[in-house]
Amino acid sequence: MTVFSHPDFDHHQRIVFGADAASGLRAIIAIHNTRRGPALGGLRIYPYASDDEALTDVLRLSRGMTYKSALADLPLGGGKAVIIADPRRDKTPELLRAMGRLVDSLNGDYITAEDSGSSEADMRVIAETTEHVGGLGHDGVSGDPSPFTAKGVFCAMRSAVRHGLGRDDFDGLRVGIQGVGHVGAQLARQLHEAGARLILTDVDRDALGQLAASLEADITTPEAIAEADVDVFAPCAMGAALSASVVERLKARVVCGAANNQLASPDIADLLKARGILYTPDYVANAGGVIEIAWQRRHDYRRDAVMAHIAGIETTLDEIFERARREDSDPNSVADALARERFRG
Ligand code: NAD
Repeated sequence: MTVFSHPDFDHHQRIVFGADAASGLRAIIAIHNTRRGPALGGLRIYPYASDDEALTDVLRLSRGMTYKSALADLPLGGGKAVIIADPRRDKTPELLRAMGRLVDSLNGDYITAEDSGSSEADMRVIAETTEHVGGLGHDGVSGDPSPFTAKGVFCAMRSAVRHGLGRDDFDGLRVGIQGVGHVGAQLARQLHEAGARLILTDVDRDALGQLAASLEADITTPEAIAEADVDVFAPCAMGAALSASVVERLKARVVCGAANNQLASPDIADLLKARGILYTPDYVANAGGVIEIAWQRRHDYRRDAVMAHIAGIETTLDEIFERARREDSDPNSVADALARERFRG
């Protein structure tokens, strides 16, 4: 395994490998950048096939968090942690406490939170051995970030349809949502309330059927969603939803969703632009959850202030789309450049 010559190594400030024989912990924490503040990012627990795969994931995800927090204007840097383990089989309180001790050894330079494979309940166990934990909930409100993420994607979509379709409302807008889990289902409800017509898909057919019935939405198969006759495609399942072959088949003129790392490779941004499809940079659209976690760290938490901050995603995207148009660039490159201006100073 190489680190400094790894293709995803991007001047990360610190990469810590931690192991604990008693609990079976094997973990990596990557701190990408702390110039704007401590590095906040979730803890992913996943049965990676190799150490190399885990390193690749943590390097990419921690870098993404720096960009996300910078564009959400948060006083935070970017970091991420991974545990190489199957969350359904290997997740024990001992393992989580050992992870807490590893987080604690970084003295607050890295703050952990939930991510795929880890839950709010797990964060409470981790909090037994470190205070550097976010997403524990606040004043009786659940720590689940997904309602805030969904709200942020909704705001992002307002900007995207204005710039991509010249529309100021969602009435009759046709939106295809790929993945109706925590974020996708809430996004679907908000869009339905705003008058959009939905086409939904998920690999979980039962959950999909129930949601579709309650929202009078059409359903399609996961394979066919890219070709759905819609105005907006909203990837809300896993990463790399936008491959070259998917982009070739898209009928939507706007892409705006919650999934992280939607572009299968950076050149896909050019392909989208060449096809005249407006792509909403994922880490800008899906920052609602991290914005709320950042507010939980403040002493003056107010829900209306959190929601106003999340609504600011629309303004940030207005700026990105406008600059992309002026510079004849793609929105992803513009977002990256804007983020770098903010975290490099
Ligand atoms: P989730 O696991 O609750 O939902 C994902 C859904 O996608 C599930 O219902 C799953 O069955 C479905 N799915 C998986 N593979 C699919 C496929 N090939 N086709 C169609 N559906 C498929 O996850 P979530 O919390 O809703 O997050 C969704 C995405 O948004 C993830 O990429 C996540 O990283 C990203 N994200 C989430 C948050 C958050 O606050 N939860 C914040 C930022 C980014």
